[in-house]
Amino acid sequence: MRYAETGFNLEVDLTRGNIERVATDPKLTELHLGGLGTNAKLFWDRVPPEVSHFDPENLLIFGAGLLVGTPAPSCNRTVVSSISPQTRLFGFSMMGGFFGPELKLAGYDKVILRGKSPNLVYLWIHNDEVEIRDAAHLRGLGTLESAEALRMELEEPNAAVASIGLAGEHRVFFASIEQGRSSASRLGLGAVMGDKNLKAIAVKGSKDINIADPMTFLPLCNDSLKYIKHREKNPIPGVMPILAGLGSPQEMAIHDEKWHTENFAWGNARVRRKGFWTEEVSEKWTNTMETMRTRLLSCYNCPMKCGAAISVDTRLCSYMMKCFSKLTYTMGAFSDLDFGLRIAQKATEHGVDAFSAPQTMAFALELLEDGILTADDFPGMPEDNEGRFYWLLDHIVRREGIGDVLADGTHWAAERIGKGAEEYAHNCIKKTEQLPLKLGMLNQMYFLMYCTGEKSNITQIEGNFPQAPFPTREEREEFTRDWPHVPDERFKKWFEDWELRGDHSIPNYPGAEASYEIVNWQEKMHYIDDCTGMCAGLSSFPYKPPFHIHNLPTLISAGAGLEVDEETLTRITKRNRDLVRAINITRGMRREDEKPPDDHWKKRFPEFESQLLDGYYEFKGWNLKGIPTRDNLESLDLGYVAEDLLERGILEEGEGTPTVEASNEGVPS
Ligand code: SF4
Repeated sequence: MRYAETGFNLEVDLTRGNIERVATDPKLTELHLGGLGTNAKLFWDRVPPEVSHFDPENLLIFGAGLLVGTPAPSCNRTVVSSISPQTRLFGFSMMGGFFGPELKLAGYDKVILRGKSPNLVYLWIHNDEVEIRDAAHLRGLGTLESAEALRMELEEPNAAVASIGLAGEHRVFFASIEQGRSSASRLGLGAVMGDKNLKAIAVKGSKDINIADPMTFLPLCNDSLKYIKHREKNPIPGVMPILAGLGSPQEMAIHDEKWHTENFAWGNARVRRKGFWTEEVSEKWTNTMETMRTRLLSCYNCPMKCGAAISVDTRLCSYMMKCFSKLTYTMGAFSDLDFGLRIAQKATEHGVDAFSAPQTMAFALELLEDGILTADDFPGMPEDNEGRFYWLLDHIVRREGIGDVLADGTHWAAERIGKGAEEYAHNCIKKTEQLPLKLGMLNQMYFLMYCTGEKSNITQIEGNFPQAPFPTREEREEFTRDWPHVPDERFKKWFEDWELRGDHSIPNYPGAEASYEIVNWQEKMHYIDDCTGMCAGLSSFPYKPPFHIHNLPTLISAGAGLEVDEETLTRITKRNRDLVRAINITRGMRREDEKPPDDHWKKRFPEFESQLLDGYYEFKGWNLKGIPTRDNLESLDLGYVAEDLLERGILEEGEGTPTVEASNEGVPS
């Protein structure tokens, strides 16, 4: 018997209209867990680097994490994976809500889509009945409208529906897949869905999920719920409210936006607005939120209520919003929250990523202001900033006029526009991923996360280690007194000794070794979550979460019937992490791509930054070009990956784990 997972994937060939229920190999669960891990393995095996994002051979996988649908709180994540049209690398984007649990209850761990349908279709999964159905009547409908139409048509008011809007249909490179209470919004995976002519997947299940050792598993789940209650009453003192509790940052519950509005960059990530947050602004924005927010919402089996239903007009579908997407349109357009929440309704219906879309629109306006684009490129565009944003959104999702160029995102649009537009696509990492903020000063941990993180967006690998030191030693010691989450005691000391100023402040402290360990710990936690399907909000993201490296092995073992301890879990995570990296390396990702934007912080330390990267690569078992070494891959049971890299001439015969001194090839000066 299989535990926690169903042991079956749904393989759908959209070209031929063929559907198969395929039993999976339990050995792969032992090696990779599930979710991101087994998604990555499928990509390695089936999607060679010669296949590009819009080729029919590109897969689009909806993979529910290993523990999704079990009683473990917040285990509801579906990892959507494909080759991203935006980065041309392996892209994965997590969505919460109810889709993953419904898929598991219907009897499947993943939906694996290949090929392209000749007509617009949707997929209906209802336990053993699975059908590809015509979706001509849904063409042009919004994501929320489509979901509503499908629930009515299927007479299943509780079916989970993942759908694309106009942006996905028109293959906008930052098109999202929306799912009511969550979305897979980053990296343009909605464009791949649109390219496959798949408008939506609707799923409803009513089967059981087996737990291997409920007598161990359920008490752990109950303890976590008790701890969540305790933390509700005991927020962490001395940190900003959005970081004091659990869950995703509680943007929908709080009104104080001083930190985001004054520290994140406005427009096309250019401008900080110190002193913006006044009493008057605070009052106005609170009023907007109180008027438009109809209720707070949770994902499946989670008490945290991180999202909110937003209703801007009773004639339009209300939509779910959470986290920093509350502010991205507002800040992109230099407007206010009322505008931000209104345009986000349209953007959610069209299905675009709330990070990339507003920044791309601000980028277009910057090009217009500086004469690189002209008024002729924007025929009929209104004069006011808000009107311009609506006009741009409409043209982008339809790929009309200049919207066709902008629909490729800032990097690719700048390449098409030329005339120096590249300088305006200034806030990207790995060439194409647009960042929302700029740091004031080099922080070595964030430097490493920006450079090497292969999850989209830095905020998705930061986590359990505080983002900044607390002002006094007493406060820091108070924090570490109750901090069993750390891998070992050294982490407590690094935090206790970390000062705001002086010798023990950034960039000198924490030292290189400590920084590597801290970054690695945080990334490890995220990779575990992305395989189990646990929400980062109760594990890898907040300070002092209920789930951590010391209790997750027991939860995974008791849930899935695997024998996992901290050491094996660490090894599995590293295997998955290096497999993701190897996929991207075969697709051309190199050290040159692993640098923050030039203007990301005021003072740069080129030599120090280069040494940090050298040391971190070595720490990770990668050579100085950032490529996992043969020894490292073989030690992770990824010998077949090493063989492939050798055959492709990416690794060289006899190349083990070189020391920093062994080679300087590829190191930027
Ligand atoms: S912590 Fe928040 S985002 Fe995460 S599962 Fe719970 S409600 Fe959803």
